[in-house]
Amino acid sequence: MFYNSTRNSEVKVSSAEAITQGISVEGGLFVPETIPQLSLDEIKSIGDMKYADRAAYIFAKYLTDFTEAEIHYCTDNAYSTRNFETESIAEIAHLFDGTYMLELWHGPTCAFKDMALQILPYFLTTSAKKINLDKKIVILVATSGDTGKAALEGFKDVEGTSILVFYPEDGVSPMQKRQMKTQEGSNVGVCAIKGNFDDCQNGVKAIFTNDDVKKSLDNKGMMFSSANSINWGRLVPQVVYYVSAYAVLVKDGEIELGEKINIVVPTGNFGNILAAYYAKHMGVPVNKLICASNINNVLTDFINTGVYDRNRQFYATVSPSMDILISSNLERLLYIMTGRDDALIREWFGKLASEGRYEVNAEVKAKLKEEFAAGFCDDSQTKATIHAIYEKYSYTCDTHTAVAVKVYNDYKETTKDNTKTVIASTASPYKFSAAVLEALEGRNSDIDEYDKVGRIAELSNIPVPAALAELRNKPERFNDVIDKSEQKEYVLRTLSI
Ligand SMILES: *Cc1c(COP(=O)(O)O)cnc(C)c1O
Repeated sequence: MFYNSTRNSEVKVSSAEAITQGISVEGGLFVPETIPQLSLDEIKSIGDMKYADRAAYIFAKYLTDFTEAEIHYCTDNAYSTRNFETESIAEIAHLFDGTYMLELWHGPTCAFKDMALQILPYFLTTSAKKINLDKKIVILVATSGDTGKAALEGFKDVEGTSILVFYPEDGVSPMQKRQMKTQEGSNVGVCAIKGNFDDCQNGVKAIFTNDDVKKSLDNKGMMFSSANSINWGRLVPQVVYYVSAYAVLVKDGEIELGEKINIVVPTGNFGNILAAYYAKHMGVPVNKLICASNINNVLTDFINTGVYDRNRQFYATVSPSMDILISSNLERLLYIMTGRDDALIREWFGKLASEGRYEVNAEVKAKLKEEFAAGFCDDSQTKATIHAIYEKYSYTCDTHTAVAVKVYNDYKETTKDNTKTVIASTASPYKFSAAVLEALEGRNSDIDEYDKVGRIAELSNIPVPAALAELRNKPERFNDVIDKSEQKEYVLRTLSI
C-alpha cells in the first residue's frame, strides 16, 4: 500500500514516510492509494479479539510496510489498561432503543484524541527507524485544549522524541490549563501565548516552514513532525473504533451481521467523521454519516449546498474543540469523491486560501448528499440536550457529544429514519464541567472547577477519572507566558539551538 498526496497524485510514499513527513511537500495530505476491504466475516471475527488486536488487524491493511511484530509493538503499548481506564478501551453505552454512545474518552486525557495520540508516538518512532531516519523527532503543537494534552501524554518520555505545546493563554478551559501546566515527563514543554488559537497555530506553521530553523535543527540531528490530524498516523487509529463498534454490536446481538447503522460525529477538523467514512468504505455497513456542528456551522452549509465559505463570524462556544472554520481533513474526502482529481483539489483549496470560499461540482454535491446528513445547534440547545438526556435516561454527556445528540434527534424527526445509530461521544463530561454542571442544574454556580467536578460526580454517578481528580494536588511545572512574536526564539532556546 502506497500513499498519494491530495495535491499531487504522482507522489507515492510508504506509510512510514507518510507518517514521518506528516504533510506532503506541496502542501497536500497523504491518502492511501486504495481503501482496503474488509469482508463481513472478517468484521465478525474482529468482534472476538481484544481491542489492541482489532487495531493490529486493521493496521496490517494500511501499514503494509510494517512487520506484524512492529504493528503489535505499537498496539500493545498504546491500547492497554496502563493507559485506558477500561478493558474494552472504547466503551459502548446504550442511550435509548437502538441508539448507542461510543465512548471514546476513557484514555489518559479524557477526550477521544487519546485513541490516536496514544499510538502515534509508536508509529512515528517505528517509522523513523524503518526508514533509517537517525534523528530526534521534535513535535510542535498548537492547541485549543484537547490535542495538546493528549499529545503530551502520548509523547512523554518516549525515547527519541521531544514535544513542545503552545496554547492561547485565555482560550482553554481551566481544567485543560491545569492538565497542561502540571504535565509530567522529561521531554515535554508547555507555553502559553498572549493571543488566540490562530496566533499559536500561525506561529507553529511559520516555524515548521522556516528553512533556517530547519537547517539548524538538522545540524543538531533533529527534525520537526506534526501531531495534528493532517498526519495519516492520527487518522488510521480512528478508523479502528468504528469497525470495532460494529463488530461488538454484532457480537452482543444488538444488530445483525450486514445490518446498516448510522454514525453521528460531532465535527471540527473533519478528522473523526472522515475515519467513519473510511470504515464505511472498507465494508462496515453504514446508511448515513451524520455530521454535527455547533454554531460555527461551515460544514453543515457545505454538505447541504456544496459551497464552503469560511468568510463568516467566528464564535467561541461551550464545545470549543469544534470552534473551527477550516476543516483540514475535508481535502481527503474531496480527493476521493472527485475520483482523485488532484488538479481540482489544487483549484478548490487554492480558492479557499485566496478567497476563503470554493464551490464543488454537481457530481460531488450529489455524493455528499448521498453519504452524509448534516446539522448544527447553538449553546442553549446544547445545554438543553445535556439536561434532557440526563432527566430522561440518567446519562450525562459532555457538550460536544450533546451537539451530536441534538443534531441526531433533529435528523430522526425530519427523516423518520429508524436505522440503529452509533453516536461518537468525544469527551468526558468532567472536561467541560462548567457548562455541563450549568446544564444539569439549570443555573450557574460560583464554586471552583474541582467543586464542580465533585457536584457532577454526585449527580451523574460517573466516577471522576483519576487523571482529573489528581490534578488538584499536582504541582504546576510550566508557567511561561510569551508574546506571539517570541514563539520562534522560544522554540530555539528550548531546543538549545
Ligand atoms: C477534537 C474534538 C472534536 C472534533 O473532532 P475533529 O476530528 O476535529 O472533527 C470533537 N469533540 C472533542 C471533545 C474534541 O476534542
